[in-house]
Amino acid sequence: MIVVKRKPLEEILSYIEGHDKILLLGCQECPYGCATAGEDEVKKLVEEIKNKMKNLGKFIEISEKTLIRLCELQYVKGINDFKNEFEAVVTLSCGVGINLIADVYPEIEVYPGVNTLFMGAKLRKGIYVEKCRACGDCIVGYTAGLCPITRCPKNMLNGPCGGSKNGVCEVRKGLPCVWDQIIRRLKKRGKLEKLMEIWEAKDWRSFYGEGIRELREVESWK
Ligand code: SF4
Ligand code: SF4
Repeated sequence: MIVVKRKPLEEILSYIEGHDKILLLGCQECPYGCATAGEDEVKKLVEEIKNKMKNLGKFIEISEKTLIRLCELQYVKGINDFKNEFEAVVTLSCGVGINLIADVYPEIEVYPGVNTLFMGAKLRKGIYVEKCRACGDCIVGYTAGLCPITRCPKNMLNGPCGGSKNGVCEVRKGLPCVWDQIIRRLKKRGKLEKLMEIWEAKDWRSFYGEGIRELREVESWK
């Protein structure tokens, strides 16, 4: 899932200042899993904004809606019928959803209600661990399912770097050295020889790309 964290209320208020009618948009996919943008969280934010406005003696009309996914055009089109009923949108989706809303409705001001942090796995409520950086050329078939691009701060491809101590990375206290973990896992499987192969420098073009990465020509929204 894409892990997001709600922005502080004060920042959200600074975005909507000056607007009379806004839409708060939730997403039932990843942010929902982070307990950030499901229907309950959207309602909670509406209440927080209204209370704050009341204390300031101001009034703002807030509509709310939670779509199935804000990263998919067919669902984003779901607000088309009532887009004239608000001046601005605060989305509680990841950056993909925010950008898509802004592309589809360029006449509407779109503000992020969350910070997009990383792609990660949910271990339990409130605990998420980054697992993949979408480098575009997955190598974990050679590294026992552990990703050094994501988990090694030096992105070592021919690790370990030599700095780990007792299985802990030298860069950050408490961070397990992923190369130590890779070696232990491969050793257990009797496949240490996999590491005898020297990796050539990674072609980082598939990671950062040469501009936006697309799988195919993006269709016109209109
Ligand atoms: S090697 Fe690349 S695609 Fe595979 S898990 Fe790591 S970052 Fe993700
Ligand atoms: S100690 Fe391990 S995880 Fe840390 S930088 Fe070196 S190889 Fe990477």
